[in-house]
Amino acid sequence: PKTAYVRTKPHLNIGTMGHVDHGKTTLTAAITKVLAERSGSSTSYVSFDRIDRAPEEAQRGITINIAHVEYETDTRHYAHVDMPGHADYVKNMVTGAAQLDGAILVVSALDGVMPQTAEHVLLARQVGVDHIVVALNKADAGDDELTDLVELEVRELLTAHGYGGEAAPVVRVSGLRALEGDPRWTAAVEALLDAVDTYVPMPVRYTDAPFLLPVENVLTITGRGTVVTGAVERGTVRVGDRVQVLGADTETVVTGLETFGKPMESAEAGDNVALLLRGLPRDAVRRGHVVAAPGSVTPSRHFTAQVYVLSAKEGGRRTAVSTGYRPQFYIRTADVVGDVDLGERAVAQPGDTVTMTVELGRDIPLEAGLGFAIREGGRTVGAGTVTEVAG
Ligand code: GDP
Ligand code: MG
Repeated sequence: PKTAYVRTKPHLNIGTMGHVDHGKTTLTAAITKVLAERSGSSTSYVSFDRIDRAPEEAQRGITINIAHVEYETDTRHYAHVDMPGHADYVKNMVTGAAQLDGAILVVSALDGVMPQTAEHVLLARQVGVDHIVVALNKADAGDDELTDLVELEVRELLTAHGYGGEAAPVVRVSGLRALEGDPRWTAAVEALLDAVDTYVPMPVRYTDAPFLLPVENVLTITGRGTVVTGAVERGTVRVGDRVQVLGADTETVVTGLETFGKPMESAEAGDNVALLLRGLPRDAVRRGHVVAAPGSVTPSRHFTAQVYVLSAKEGGRRTAVSTGYRPQFYIRTADVVGDVDLGERAVAQPGDTVTMTVELGRDIPLEAGLGFAIREGGRTVGAGTVTEVAG
């Protein structure tokens, strides 16, 4: 029998971001190890191999989300997503980051700020991650003077993206040495966790709003049915509740709820959950669909947005975009083509912030304030916010 999830501490969603090979996965494993070894701990150690496994292998249990681990500090329960650093996976970062209450930016003290470091900070800003704690990793192998320079560089990067780099905690760590049990570096990981606990505030949760969950993943549990996973964006859901599946255009009932393999009676805004949905065929629902309280959202395809067009230096385009441009829009977990209209302005250069109207290829739930990324040929070319939805 599975033990039920008991909500004893506030729950937050956090994640590692940063350039490939700077040590995100190693640090994630080290965090679980350090916390698992605290006395009276309820955290389980998750090894590097279990975090970095291939997605197909990850879909065993019903709530095993790819690269999600959970841990508890003295004051909080965290769901932590270890986001892949490679540019091809930025779209996963966008959708993962959209639900993050805070992030740990991992920067190798040996290499400093790299292109993906900057890209992730920019995307984090765009999707509404308000607090970043910096882990200057591989501090065991770097020399102090060089690490000081890297620290300055990271603080400047944060400030350039509106994060207040002066005040942000920057903690020198070694994920690798902490994983090996070295006391000095174990203490450094503890210090990093204290910084996360104190610097990332408890976010406001809209638990009274109508329930909404963007579908991240769909699984089939033999003998039980179709399960969708994701983070609850707002509201509360209980076993027995009727829900609407937007995209699948159907209504169904929630017959089971779990978080990290533990059954729960009700899930609320901020929780990472799996919902078992009655009688829903596996192929009826996909990533990008939205599960919501019936009648609470009206999908549409026209909106106005404020968009920042990334410069070439940030990995964006070298040439201007103009009316008629048709990139992919990454909104919540959805990936939809859209027609861009720049109005009288007609063109936008890389580095510009512009107002545009967009007509998506299909209707999805939209609302003012929603952040999104614009992608083209496997790279991010823009980041925006919906300012107005037209019927
Ligand atoms: P990711 O791509 O950011 O997830 O990076 P990984 O965690 O896979 O680490 C990349 C490489 O850096 C591996 O060879 C790690 O063993 C090494 N590494 C990670 N953390 C540290 C550290 O704190 N110190 C040193 N010296 N090497 C590290
Ligand atoms: Mg990794």
